[in-house]
Amino acid sequence: MARIAVVGAGMGGLAFASAMRNSQHEVTLYEQAAELAELGAGISLWANGTRLFEEMGIAALMAQRSCETDAAYFRNEDGSVAALQPLARDNWYRQAYGYPYYGALRTDLQASLLAVLGRDSIRLGKQLIQLDDSGDEAKLQWADGTVDTADLVIGADGIKSVVRRAIDPTAQALFTGNSAFRGLAKTSELDLLPEPHSFTDWMGDGKHVLNFPVGNDFKYTTIVVFLDGPRRWEHEAWRVPCDPAEVLAQFKGWHPAVGQLLEHVNLSERWGLHEVSKMATWRRGRAVLIGDAAHGMLPHHGQGAISSFEDAITLAHVLNDASLATMEDKLAVYESERKPRGERIQKSSRDLNACLHLPEGAQRTKRSAVLANLSEHFSWLHNYVCVGAR
Ligand SMILES: Cc1cc2nc3c(=O)[nH]c(=O)nc-3n(C[C@H](O)[C@H](O)[C@H](O)COP(=O)(O)OP(=O)(O)OC[C@H]3O[C@@H](n4cnc5c(N)ncnc54)[C@H](O)[C@@H]3O)c2cc1C
Repeated sequence: MARIAVVGAGMGGLAFASAMRNSQHEVTLYEQAAELAELGAGISLWANGTRLFEEMGIAALMAQRSCETDAAYFRNEDGSVAALQPLARDNWYRQAYGYPYYGALRTDLQASLLAVLGRDSIRLGKQLIQLDDSGDEAKLQWADGTVDTADLVIGADGIKSVVRRAIDPTAQALFTGNSAFRGLAKTSELDLLPEPHSFTDWMGDGKHVLNFPVGNDFKYTTIVVFLDGPRRWEHEAWRVPCDPAEVLAQFKGWHPAVGQLLEHVNLSERWGLHEVSKMATWRRGRAVLIGDAAHGMLPHHGQGAISSFEDAITLAHVLNDASLATMEDKLAVYESERKPRGERIQKSSRDLNACLHLPEGAQRTKRSAVLANLSEHFSWLHNYVCVGAR
């Protein structure tokens, strides 16, 4: 039996702990927040994520709490349809990938994972400030002055990971040159939406607006505005104040439904979107990374949390029968399985930004052909079965 410390009770940390719930190892989950805040907004969960819900113990709960979105629409600024891909319509997505696409509230996903684990299983108010893995055991130094030890440390501490600093001090969270604004509305209030039960990307030059229904019975709609720029991010903080008029001006003349969506978005708070620079390795000694800490990415494929689930399931699987003597070999297997995949999704998310933000012209016609055939172009994402999945 090994003592495994998981740093960070976000999506990846919770998924790993849930997948290890029957393990022989002693798993302790540490989180810097004093309370597990209910995370706002929605999340899109594609088949490569929903197929893992049995392993995570949340399949039945998430089936009750999510909606199965009708279709994915890609529209131009004026609302004309550039491409359309059925999802639940005609049962297309389940037939293609064997598992559903869900639109869910992050609060429901988090609550489902906590129902499996029990809130008391998480040690809150534990902010890691330093990790030392040079001795016989890893030493975790917390901001409250205490120290814990472990045989293995899982860095699930997000894009600004402290564990990553111990593994590769040169790795960084880099600003992507893109920013976002987020909102959540009752779907019933969005009466101008042409397809309220569908996922829609409204695409324009240098920007797009995304809306998709979430939660049981399509009750809510999550909305995200993505803009190219600013060119630099000079702030320590992820979110900074912004003048809403500056954002609104960029959508003048767009379809009226977009105007209505923007009314429900917090345009006074701009999120800087970052990704993690490519690393030579995700592990060193007694520490290993999962999720955003390893491959923080642009959210355009809706794969950030899902790829942290894939990491978590694969890592839990390889550690299952590990002993202290075999731990390092097991981590090598995990890394060889997951690193190429994480990096590929990260790159593809970056490429997708350029594709969604094309100026008017011939390239948009080519784009429509790509977007209309989700199964051909994106099956490597959605049809993927990670090691450890059923
Ligand atoms: C606008 C936007 C939309 C998105 N939409 C989607 C989507 O539709 N689908 C999808 O799959 N993904 C989406 N994502 C990405 C997704 O949210 C992230 O990829 C995912 O949350 C990463 O999970 P994680 O566990 O690695 O990190 P996080 O969820 O960020 O969790 C990290 C945890 O570690 C804790 N922590 C940090 N530092 C320390 C420390 N020093 N000590 C202790 N604890 C610490 C944090 O408090 C946090 O709880 C989106 C992202 C954005 C920005």
